[in-house]
Amino acid sequence: MPHDDFAPGSVWLVGAGPGDPELLTMKAVRLIAAADIVFTDALVGPGILALIPSHVERVSVGKRSGLHSKDQGTIDTLLVAAAAAGKRVVRLKGGDPALFGRAAEEIAALRATGHPVQICPGITAASAAAASAGISLSLRGVARDVRFITAHSQRGEALDLDWDALAKFGTTLAFYMGRSAADAISRELIAAGMAAATPVLIVCDVSLPSEKQLATRLDLLGLATRALADKAPTLILVGEALRQPTRTKTRKLAAAIGPRD
Ligand code: SAH
Repeated sequence: MPHDDFAPGSVWLVGAGPGDPELLTMKAVRLIAAADIVFTDALVGPGILALIPSHVERVSVGKRSGLHSKDQGTIDTLLVAAAAAGKRVVRLKGGDPALFGRAAEEIAALRATGHPVQICPGITAASAAAASAGISLSLRGVARDVRFITAHSQRGEALDLDWDALAKFGTTLAFYMGRSAADAISRELIAAGMAAATPVLIVCDVSLPSEKQLATRLDLLGLATRALADKAPTLILVGEALRQPTRTKTRKLAAAIGPRD
C-alpha cells in the first residue's frame, strides 16, 4: 500500500533508537528513505547514518553535553527553513523523540509557521538497556512504578529533583544524562532513605558493539560510573527490580566455565 503521510514541506521527528539499526522501526526506515533532507543528532550512530541514501541532504546538528554545536533556536530555524523550502524533512533523534529530546520546541516552531509535523516513536535507552541486560523494568510485587528522569543540570547547579518521591520503595528509576551526576544521585537517594545496597545497573552505548554494562549497588554508583563511563552515553538504572540476574553476569559466568558451543 503506498503511503501518503510524507508530503513535501512536512516534517517527521523520527526516533532512531539506541544505536543498533535493527532497533529502528520499519516506519523510521521508510521515512529516512523517503526524505529530501535528514537532520541528525550526535547520538545517532554510524550504522543508522549509513541508511540515509547518498542523494539525501544530511545536516548534523549534534549536541553533546558541554559541546553544543548548534543551539536549539538555530535547529528550530533550520527545520522551519527546510520545510518552507518544500522539502520532506526527517529530524532523526536518538532513542524516542518524545523523551528528553527537545521535541516540544521543534514541534512548536513548526506548527507556529504552519508546517505539518509528526512523531515516529523510537526505542528509548531505558528499554534497550533492560532488554540488553535481560531484565524487566517493572516487576510484579517489587516495582509497579518506572520513572524516566533527566539528571542533566545546568553547569555547577544542584539537581532539582524530588528525591523523597524517587526514593520510594517499589520504583525503578532510569536516569538519563546521569554520568556527571552519579555521585549526587547516590548521595541524595541514600539521604532520602533508599537502601545503600539497592541494586544499580550502569549501561554505556547500549545496543552498539561498544556497549558496556556494570551491575553494582547504590552507594558505589559514583565510583562505578567513573570506572565504566568516559564520554559514552550512559544510562543508570536503580531499584530492587534490578536484583534479577542480568545477562551480563550470565555471560561472565559462562566465560568462567569455558567456551560455549
Ligand atoms: N531520546 C533519548 C534520550 C536523549 S537524552 C532516548 O529516548 O533514549 C540523552 C541520554 O540518553 C544520554 O545521556 C543517555 O543517558 C541516554 N542514552 C541515549 N542513547 C543511549 C545509549 N545508546 N546507551 C546508553 N544511554 C543512552
